[in-house]
Amino acid sequence: MQPISSPVTIFWHRRDLRTFDNAGLLKALKADHPVLPVFIFDATILGKLEDRRDRRVLFIHQELQRLKKEYQAHGSDLLVFYGKPLDVWKALLNQFNIAEVYTNRDYEPYARERDEAVLALLDSATTPFKGGKDHVIFEKNEVVKADGTPYTVFTPYMKRWKEHLAIHGLESHPSELYFQNLQSFEPREIPSLASMGFESVDFDFPERDPNIDVICKYDTQRDIPAVQGTSRLSLHLRFGTVSIRALARIAQKNNEKWLNELIWRDFYQMILYHFPHSATQAFRAKYDNIPWRNSTDDFERWCAGTTGYPIVDAGMRELNATGFMHNRVRMVTASFLTKHLLLDWRLGERYFAAKLLDFDLASNVGGWQWAAGSGCDAAPYFRVFNPTAQQEKFDPQARYIKKWVPEYGTPRYPAPMVEHAFARKRAIDTYKEALG
Ligand code: FAD
Repeated sequence: MQPISSPVTIFWHRRDLRTFDNAGLLKALKADHPVLPVFIFDATILGKLEDRRDRRVLFIHQELQRLKKEYQAHGSDLLVFYGKPLDVWKALLNQFNIAEVYTNRDYEPYARERDEAVLALLDSATTPFKGGKDHVIFEKNEVVKADGTPYTVFTPYMKRWKEHLAIHGLESHPSELYFQNLQSFEPREIPSLASMGFESVDFDFPERDPNIDVICKYDTQRDIPAVQGTSRLSLHLRFGTVSIRALARIAQKNNEKWLNELIWRDFYQMILYHFPHSATQAFRAKYDNIPWRNSTDDFERWCAGTTGYPIVDAGMRELNATGFMHNRVRMVTASFLTKHLLLDWRLGERYFAAKLLDFDLASNVGGWQWAAGSGCDAAPYFRVFNPTAQQEKFDPQARYIKKWVPEYGTPRYPAPMVEHAFARKRAIDTYKEALG
């Protein structure tokens, strides 16, 4: 590493893999010293990934190469490390004269713990560690009830969120205008996928430019899994390759319903921030009393998409093949696991976590607890989705199903693994007894 003895400001990229409209990066660039951007492949997180061809790692790797080029075009570089964040920070403190460190806040429990540890380390070196709000539009306590407590029901939260937006407007953080304040640096290598234990795969990731036509028609098309009626921007929102504020501007102009979905995203981030226990326990404690069934066979059939319920099977196969599943079908498959099979929502949540390219703890846990009935603002437990009725309503010509379940309608397609009326009654009776 080339030594730099004069003071530098470090900007730490995490879920904000872009140089434009980046709140924390702008703060860093406007501070007193030249800025050196860094990214750390967290060995703890990567070590837990089972699939050595995990496409999310590939996506990050590709995006980092793009970022590096952008920084290199301005005579600087993005330094990329692989290791445990605290160890990397210890090494950075030894190598550089770090005046300050900037980053953007991350609201997940693991990230908060990690940042606390880094804060303590930097504190001991009297290096300030400062955060920006970039991942969401409103965070923490910005949108709360009149008594200062967090909302736990979406609709009043959304109303307040919109009032707040009308007052404060959407912020703008033109980091791209301050690149002259980057630290000059010789280009460095990026750790290869192989050196981190991963393999490359051929894969076309979704476009990062919003499709305005889709967004304009969102309210009428969004529930039809056979068409591309949703934006498919979730992967980019997850890793911050797009700016949430830029998308909110597009939403305001073109489609209120789509704006509401972006607000769901803020809502679940806010919920996870205030109720970190909900990552692994029922948001409403008594739901932890439900005696979930224990059946590896049933779970495996759900994972493989061989339940005999075509819409469930199509969804699971879409997920397994592409790392994406349409939102309507996420609701149906999650409901099927928790209600029809009475299997613990955490099993499904972990399966989605392993497979979804857009996996985001806050939205995933929120979606799963909603389906299980145990979350904030969840549907009442006695409302059990009927997968056949869902199919008739949202995929009446079975176009989505035929795409993913080619043997549908042939003798090779299995009979339903559990009868709907029986499963529905079993779920309602079990929930009723457990909840008292
Ligand atoms: P669009 O419909 O175009 O919506 C635009 C953006 O709004 C999305 O990209 C997403 O960032 C946000 N959004 C939309 N719906 C929701 C929602 N219900 N909750 C929170 N944010 C939302 N979304 C994730 O990003 N990561 C997850 O891990 C995830 N897990 C889910 C699990 C379950 C069981 C359920 C029911 C939903 C889950 N969702 C998750 C929410 C939603 O299904 C996806 O965000 C959406 O399908 C992504 O497709 P899109 O980008 O085309 O969304």
